[in-house]
Amino acid sequence: MRLCLGMLAVAGLWVAPLFADEAGGTAAGTSPDSAAASPADQNGKGDAETVPARRELFRGKVVRLADALKRRKVTAFSEIEDQVVLETADGRLIPIVPDWRGRAFFQDQRLRDREVELVGYQPEKTPYLKVLMVFTADEKGERQYTDYWCDICAIPMYEIKPCDCCQGPIRLRFQPRELPEYVEQGGESSARTSDR
Ligand SMILES: [Zn+2]
Repeated sequence: MRLCLGMLAVAGLWVAPLFADEAGGTAAGTSPDSAAASPADQNGKGDAETVPARRELFRGKVVRLADALKRRKVTAFSEIEDQVVLETADGRLIPIVPDWRGRAFFQDQRLRDREVELVGYQPEKTPYLKVLMVFTADEKGERQYTDYWCDICAIPMYEIKPCDCCQGPIRLRFQPRELPEYVEQGGESSARTSDR
């Protein structure tokens, strides 16, 4: 494995979403629900937003907004083309913010038009979803934490781009993993599903 600055920076990105403890310290020692800066902020790439304490589970399929509107007989001009939305089981459309984690849905057709579970939050007074973690289901329906991975450098990434470290190609990666406890514990009341 090669060592480089990119690896160190991205290692931080990788650990943070897993333990939801982006503010620093050990995962065991702090509450996963404490407010914290997003990993992107720590990496110097973000805007100065903070992640609110309440993170929720959003279920549905990410689709192109243009397609979703067409199905609803809503016509729109081409400016709408780039936007993608989470379409929940009850047909609500929640636009995704193309940030460090949401951007992959704009880039990667493989992540769209399939069942996903997204851990994230909606910034106050906006309809938008800021995605923090992405889960997909494999063909057997098993939950898979989903990100990108460089096999040479063994580092995760969250959008399609040359590897931060070796500049080589990266691949979409699926890892069997359960949802984080802080969204599981919220039960149905915190899951934005067809039930509401
Ligand atoms: Zn690499």
